Amino acid sequence: MSAILFISLTLLTFIVMEGITWLTHRFVMHGFLWYLHEDHHKKGPGFFEKNDAFFLIFAIPSWLCIMLGLQNQVYWVAAIGAGIALYGFAYFVVHEVIIHQRFKFFSRSNNTYIRTIRWAHKMHHKHLDKQEGESFGMLLVAKKYWDKVRADKNRSEEQTPISI
Ligand SMILES: [Zn+2]
Ligand SMILES: [Zn+2]
Repeated sequence: MSAILFISLTLLTFIVMEGITWLTHRFVMHGFLWYLHEDHHKKGPGFFEKNDAFFLIFAIPSWLCIMLGLQNQVYWVAAIGAGIALYGFAYFVVHEVIIHQRFKFFSRSNNTYIRTIRWAHKMHHKHLDKQEGESFGMLLVAKKYWDKVRADKNRSEEQTPISI
């Protein structure tokens, strides 16, 4: 398998993972595994949440694909495993660090995309219960959240007096 094909398959898996995450979040985490996800919506004391178990749930297939793919030289399986791992890493950076700020990096970003994913996820957290959620994805967010953030940004720019 060529490196280009391997990388393409890894990136394709990354994109597909956004869809899988949406589906998992919408139907599994807000479904029969709500008991693991609930403390992410109703935050208790302590650093760790039961919700962190989902890292393990996604890490296992990724690790298995990489290990078995490499051992048996079935590289497309390893590429899928790498894509899942890459998405897991992005999820950690975006969801835990940028959005929830469990570690204090990038906490004051004014970037439109960062503000939009934060806002969209905030709207997800507005719902404290299992039912009737919105915005289950992470990296791809609906147009209405973009519109809201752009409108806010425009308004605040208009209000700032121009000093020369
Ligand atoms: Zn949720
Ligand atoms: Zn969250």
